[in-house]
Amino acid sequence: MQKSSPLMLASHNPGKLSEFQFLLRDLAMTLVAYPERGEIVAETGTTYQENAALKAHAVARTQGVYALADDSGVEVDALDGAPGVHSARFVSDDPWTNTREILVRLMDVPWEKRTARMRSVLCLASPDGQEWFFEGVLEGYILGWPRGNNGFGVDPVFSVDGSSSLAELPPDEKNRISHRALAAMRFGQFWSGARDEISRL
Ligand code: IMP
Repeated sequence: MQKSSPLMLASHNPGKLSEFQFLLRDLAMTLVAYPERGEIVAETGTTYQENAALKAHAVARTQGVYALADDSGVEVDALDGAPGVHSARFVSDDPWTNTREILVRLMDVPWEKRTARMRSVLCLASPDGQEWFFEGVLEGYILGWPRGNNGFGVDPVFSVDGSSSLAELPPDEKNRISHRALAAMRFGQFWSGARDEISRL
């Protein structure tokens, strides 16, 4: 497969697009953004896997290309794993409103019980309906207040070491350790190994 082999990212999220452009930069492909406006598909699944598959298949089928979708979220132990798969629509469509809601609900929760993880599930879909999944997890804590300006979503309140937030890390550093980086590495290993097979389809 040539460097120009297209892979379409089934997302409108500019944060995800720039992270994937970095994370997949060495693979034999050209990552292209989904060109249409509006919601790709209603995310009616109850798991990350279902929602990632809905997005990837919708784009692969309608655009006639291989498509990669990321469904991800933050799971807060003191909130019984919420917001999880509902992270993007927890109490609103606005990322900061959702992040603030997590902080409010954890207001009286002591430090040692503020454990959380971010999870990313990737679905690769082919135009003829095949699918493959890749997952990554990043363990950490929810800080008491937001810090930093980088990243997106809950990055300002998510910390791996309990002091600096992901939004305070240089983007390269987040992309070295993140849940998405791990899932992307697993995808990359598959894409490299499966190249010949994919190009025969
Ligand atoms: P999705 O777009 O439906 O997959 O939902 C993603 C949501 O999960 C975001 O709106 C954030 O709340 C959260 N999230 C997932 N990954 C990240 C990340 O890398 N940084 C910050 N927030 C994330």
